[in-house]
Amino acid sequence: DTAIVWFRRDLRLDDNPALSAALHSGARILPVYIHAPAEEAPWAPGAASRWWLHHSLTALDAALRARGTRLWIGQGESLAQLRRLAKHSGARAIYWNRLYDPATRTRDTEIKQQLRAAGLDCASHNGALLFEPWEAATGSGGPYKVFSAFWRHCAPRLTDLPAACTTPAQIPGAEVEGGDTVDALGLLPRIRWDQGLAEAWTPGEQGARMAAEQFLADRLSDYGELRDHPDRPATSRLSPHLHFGEIGPRRLLALTRAALPTSPDTGEDAFVRELGWREFAHHLLYHFPHTPEHPLDARFADYPWREPPHDELLERWQQGRTGIPLVDAGMRELWHTGWMHNRVRMVVASFLTKNLRLPWQLGARWFWDTLVDADLASNTLGWQWTAGCGADAAPYFRVFNPVRQGERFDPSGTYVRRWCPELARLPDKVLQQPWTVSNGLARGHYPAPMVDLAQSRREALAGWEEIKS
Ligand code: FAD
Repeated sequence: DTAIVWFRRDLRLDDNPALSAALHSGARILPVYIHAPAEEAPWAPGAASRWWLHHSLTALDAALRARGTRLWIGQGESLAQLRRLAKHSGARAIYWNRLYDPATRTRDTEIKQQLRAAGLDCASHNGALLFEPWEAATGSGGPYKVFSAFWRHCAPRLTDLPAACTTPAQIPGAEVEGGDTVDALGLLPRIRWDQGLAEAWTPGEQGARMAAEQFLADRLSDYGELRDHPDRPATSRLSPHLHFGEIGPRRLLALTRAALPTSPDTGEDAFVRELGWREFAHHLLYHFPHTPEHPLDARFADYPWREPPHDELLERWQQGRTGIPLVDAGMRELWHTGWMHNRVRMVVASFLTKNLRLPWQLGARWFWDTLVDADLASNTLGWQWTAGCGADAAPYFRVFNPVRQGERFDPSGTYVRRWCPELARLPDKVLQQPWTVSNGLARGHYPAPMVDLAQSRREALAGWEEIKS
C-alpha cells in the first residue's frame, strides 16, 4: 500500500502528525510538495519567503534521502497533481497538516471533497498550532478578541496537549517517476539581493533545531527582561522556522519546558506567552478571514488616510530614509536580513500609519514581500494592532514616539549605529534625534526628518476623533 504525504508549511520530519499517521498506517510513503502560488492568491509567498522556501525544500529533500526516500516536487494545480500521483503510485490515502489562511482553507476543503469522491482517503492533522483555532471559545460561544482572555483560556490546557511525535530513522518510500528539482521552481531571485539573508539564516529543520537549542540554552532565562531590546540578541529568531513548520510548536514547548526543569522561570512564561500570540493570531484569522484586507474595527473603513499619491512617502519608509533613526534602522534591518525586531516592527508600523497617515495595508504588503517570516495571521494581527484597528488593539491614541522608544530600548545606540552607520559618531544623547545637532556636518548624508513628529501625531489623533463615534 502507498500513502501520499502532502507537505506544505510543515517542512520537517520530527513532530509531523501527518507523516506520523501515514507511517502508522503501514503504507509506503510518497512525500510530495506541490508549488502552486496562484492557489494562495492574493497572498502568494513574497520574495523573501520564496528564498526561504527554496532552501527549506532543499533541506527537506536531503533529510528524506538520508532516511531512504526523497521529496517528489511538482508545480501547477494541486488537485490535478495529487490525482495524477495517486493514479501512478496506486496510493489510496493522502495525509496533510492543516493551513489556516482563507485561500488555502477553501482550496483544501475542495480538494478533500474531490479526492474523497474519487475514492481516496484524506486525513488532515494539526501540525502547526498548539490549539486548533476553533477550540477556544468565549462563554457565549464566540471567538476571543482580547489576547489576555484568550490566553487565560488556553494556558491551563497546555499540560493536556498530546506529546510531539518522532519519526523513525528509515522511511519506507514509494517511488514515482518524474517530478521537478527545487531549482526548477525558480524561487531564488534573478538579481542576487539575497546575500544578507544567507548570512543571517540557516533554513531547514536542522537550522531550526539548532536555533531553538541555542536560544533555550543561552537566552531563555533573560528573555522576559530583554525581549524588548533590539540592541541585544535576546529573542529566539524562530519565527521563519515556525512559519514554514521546520519546528513544531509542541516540540518547541517540550524543549522549552525541559530547558528549565527545576525552576519555573519568568523567561519560560514570557516566551510561551509569545507562542500564545501566534496562536491568537491564527484564532483571529480563522474567525475573521476578511482581516488581511479589511480592518476588524469597521469604523476604520472611514479613517481619513492621507490622500494619494503615496509613492514617494512610502518609498522613503521602505528604503529607511525617513530621517528618524530607529525607524530607518528597522527598515534597513528588514531589507538586509528579512527580519526585524518586534519592538521596532511596532515603531515602524506606528510611524507609517500614524505619523505618515498611510493605510496599514501598504505596510503589511511591504512586510509580506520582505520578511522571511511573513505570515498572514501574525502580520495581519501585528499591523492591525499597531494601526489601532484590530482586536485587542492598543487604543488608537497610543502613538509610539520613535525617539523615546529608541532612548528606552536602544539606550547606547548599538542598534541604530549598526544599521545607520552614517550616524555612528553622534553622541548617545542626540543619536535618536540627530536633527537637534546644530552642526549639520556631523549628520553626514543622513536625511532630515520627513515629518514633524508632534504635528503629525496631532493630525493622526484628529482623524481618530472623526471616526470614533
Ligand atoms: P520571539 O520573541 O522569540 O517569540 C517566539 C515566537 O513567538 C516567534 O517566533 C513567533 O512565532 C511568536 N510571536 C512572538 N511575538 C508574536 C506576535 N506579536 N504575534 C504573533 N506571534 C508572535 N510575526 C511573524 O511570525 N510573521 C509576521 O509576518 C509578523 N508580522 C508582524 C508585523 C508587525 C507590524 C508586528 C508589530 C509584528 C509582526 N510579527 C510577525 C510578530 C513578531 O514581531 C515576530 O513574530 C517576532 O519579532 C519574531 O521574532 P522571534 O522569533 O525572535 O520572536
